Amino acid sequence: MIKIKDLHKSYHMGSNSLHVLKGINFEVEEGELVSIMGSSGSGKSTLLNILGMLDEADEGQYILDNVPIKNLNEKIAAKYRNEFLGFIFQSFNLINYKSALDNVSMPLYYKGIKRKERTERAMHYLEKVGLANWSHHLPSELSGGQKQRVAIARALASDPKVLLADEPTGALDTKTSYEVMDLIQGINDEGKTILVVTHEDDIAHMTKRIVNLKDGLIIDDSKVEQVRASAHV
Ligand code: ADP
Ligand code: MG
Repeated sequence: MIKIKDLHKSYHMGSNSLHVLKGINFEVEEGELVSIMGSSGSGKSTLLNILGMLDEADEGQYILDNVPIKNLNEKIAAKYRNEFLGFIFQSFNLINYKSALDNVSMPLYYKGIKRKERTERAMHYLEKVGLANWSHHLPSELSGGQKQRVAIARALASDPKVLLADEPTGALDTKTSYEVMDLIQGINDEGKTILVVTHEDDIAHMTKRIVNLKDGLIIDDSKVEQVRASAHV
C-alpha cells in the first residue's frame, strides 16, 4: 500500500538548514496498523505529512497504492489526497461553528456527493463512532474524546485507503485515549490500513508494528503483540 525508499527532507531557514529525514525506508501492507514513534522533534510529523501528501520529500521515492507520488500538479495531488487518505490530528481540527454532522459531511460535498447521500453517509459514520445522538451538537458542546470521534468519522466518511493519525490521543486523558484506540483498533480489524504517530509507549503497543525514529533514521521496526485497548477501558 505504501512504499518509501531513501526519503530525505530538510528545512531551510535563511542560511541554516535542518536535515530532518535522512534516508527513510519502509513499506506498509494493506490492513496493517503501524505506529511511528520517536521523541519530540524526531521528524514524525514531517514523515506523516509527506505520506499524507501535505508536504513533499526532497529526495527519494514514495509509492502509494502503486502510484508514484512525485511532481504531481496540485489538482492531481488533491485528487489523490481525497481519494486515498484520511487524516486525524491531535487537535481534532473540527470547524467550530458547524455541527458534528456537518463536519463529517462537508468533505463529501467537495467530492461532488449529493446532499441526501452526504447526510446519510455522515450519519452512518457518526453511528459507527457512537455519536448518533450528538449529530446536531457543535464541537464546543462535545468532550475531547467525542471531538476526536467526530474527526475519525470525518476521516472515514470518504472511505480512504489509508488513515493517518498524528498523535490522535495527544490531547486526551488516559481513559479517553484508550477509548479512541479501541475505536481505531476496531476500524483496523475491518481491514483499514492505519498509521498512528505517537510518543507514548502504551499507545504504540496497541498497534501491531512499531517503527522507531531517531535523528532522522529508523532505528527499529518490529512487529509487536497487540494490546487490546478494550481490556483497559
Ligand atoms: P515530531 O513530529 O517528531 O515532533 P517534526 O517532524 O514536527 O517532529 O519536526 C522535526 C524537526 O523539524 C523539528 O526540529 C522541527 O522544529 C523542525 N520543523 C518542522 N517543521 C518545520 C518547518 N516547517 N520549518 C522549519 N523547521 C521545521
Ligand atoms: Mg509531531
